[in-house]
Amino acid sequence: MSPGVAFAMAPCYLHKGLFCFDPESVTSLRIDPQTGRPPDVNANGEPAEPSQAAQDRSVREPICPDCCKRVNPDRRALGLELLPEGDSMDNLARLLKDPYS
Ligand SMILES: [Zn+2]
Repeated sequence: MSPGVAFAMAPCYLHKGLFCFDPESVTSLRIDPQTGRPPDVNANGEPAEPSQAAQDRSVREPICPDCCKRVNPDRRALGLELLPEGDSMDNLARLLKDPYS
């Protein structure tokens, strides 16, 4: 298999603006399409025990680095796992510069 670089452009799930990212390293949240929320968050935005059905329905949605930084204080206050704040474009730029790294 030859080495290569893949990148994607899609709307950030939170702010809906397009951003470019490395699909293998982008931060994402699993979102239940029926509720528009992560399966482990209730309608009040509080942590909740996820149902198996909600987990099965949920799909990965990309989150841009700016939104990760914006929502982490609220996630920390709620005791939820923090989103990685790394800039996926930095990783993409490194791969484009040296795809053999
Ligand atoms: Zn965003």
